[in-house]
Amino acid sequence: MRYISTRGAAPTLKFDEVLLAGLASDGGLYVPESWPQISAAELRRWRGLSYADLAIRVMSPFIGDTVPQAAFERMVRDAYATFDHPAVVPMKQLGERLWSMELFHGPTLAFKDLALQLVGRLYDNVLASHNARVTIVGATSGDTGSAAIEACRDRKSIEIFILHPEGRVSAVQRRQMTTVPSKNVHNLAIQGSFDDCQDLVKAMFNDRPFREAHKLGAVNSINWARIMAQIVYYFRAGLELGAPDRSLRFSVPTGNFGNVYAGYAARQMGLPIEKFIVASNRNDILTRFFASGRMEILGVEPSLSPSMDIQVSSNLERLLFDLYGRDGKALAADMENFRERKSLTLAPERHQAALQWFQGFRLSDEGTLSEIGRLHRLTGELIDPHSAIGIAAAVEAAKTGETPVVALATAHPAKFAEAVKRATGVEPLLPPHLADLMTNPERFERLPNDLGAVEAHIKRRLAEEVHA
Ligand SMILES: *Cc1c(COP(=O)(O)O)cnc(C)c1O
Repeated sequence: MRYISTRGAAPTLKFDEVLLAGLASDGGLYVPESWPQISAAELRRWRGLSYADLAIRVMSPFIGDTVPQAAFERMVRDAYATFDHPAVVPMKQLGERLWSMELFHGPTLAFKDLALQLVGRLYDNVLASHNARVTIVGATSGDTGSAAIEACRDRKSIEIFILHPEGRVSAVQRRQMTTVPSKNVHNLAIQGSFDDCQDLVKAMFNDRPFREAHKLGAVNSINWARIMAQIVYYFRAGLELGAPDRSLRFSVPTGNFGNVYAGYAARQMGLPIEKFIVASNRNDILTRFFASGRMEILGVEPSLSPSMDIQVSSNLERLLFDLYGRDGKALAADMENFRERKSLTLAPERHQAALQWFQGFRLSDEGTLSEIGRLHRLTGELIDPHSAIGIAAAVEAAKTGETPVVALATAHPAKFAEAVKRATGVEPLLPPHLADLMTNPERFERLPNDLGAVEAHIKRRLAEEVHA
């Protein structure tokens, strides 16, 4: 399997190279040159497999011979053994034609663990085989930082520095990062906003001497390997509900479009998915895009579902690539234009093609709280605000058509306890493995919102590691 860039001007790469590269050199995103095809007979043989066994079958064609098979299988088993539910991604029936799939049983209680637990291991393995080391630098407003830290802790080839805005992430989110005792984990509390943290990270990547001297790397959501790992649970849900002999729909609470794009990949591989419901909060660039065919950037407003507070959905470019008939040159020109004008209008036939597979949905904070309350009264289940948006969208969709709808539940309710308590009067509890989270000692460094100070700190820390 080889990978090509959505902008058509970067070298074609193999899986291990794509893993390390992240973004393509022409500014595009890597996608597989072609989609592996899973026959109906093969799908039937996959019924009843354990999550790890299914994951190995789904992902093997994407990896090819770039990672030795035995090592790959061990990494997959280790990654999903960190989950605290034996099913890894258990499903619950919530209505006649409505299910939820719980993607939050990993170490940091959000769905990003499903990809990052594996990607951290793959990254370390590929680095070691290239005899290379990397310094991961990232900014977080909450979920991504802890998932990345859990994925990279104690890995020999990786040092990880995560910047968070001091005082602006919840206590649970902060402690999930700062109580990790591993020596290769470095938390920086920046005196500024999340945007300041992101700007600092961008500035470090743009500082070429600094980037090259310390071998900066990223594990952000545009990395193909993260998408690949997320394809697996779409197959799991499909097989549970009778694929390949019955089709299904998915409702996906969406930010950067990474999760729902992984579902699209499963569909391209042969899983009979009828429709994707793309669920957003008030930051509704995607809802507006599917309604009008026009993608237009507005400001970001904070909501009860912060992991979906985005201005632009970066992974949408991968879908656009297919809507453009894989014409990278044409897409590159339009993306350039979009960056300047903050707006892009799809040709009507491309918009129609998108509507065959996708429909948008939007829910306010008020609607989110009322959905959390409604589901609790109806079923006794506690759900977090992100999952609530997906479930509300699925309830609406299930009113039309006979095909079952699976709503992806992306975070554990205890991660957003305040909103859940407001909606239900019930305080959701952290799972037992995190019971001591609020009392464990914290470790972080306070730094001003200043590039020089942050770079000097990272440099000092890395030098200490070498001499330790
Ligand atoms: C990251 C995240 C999302 C959005 O996922 P995308 O892949 O960016 O669309 C939704 N819910 C939760 C809880 C998340 O952490």
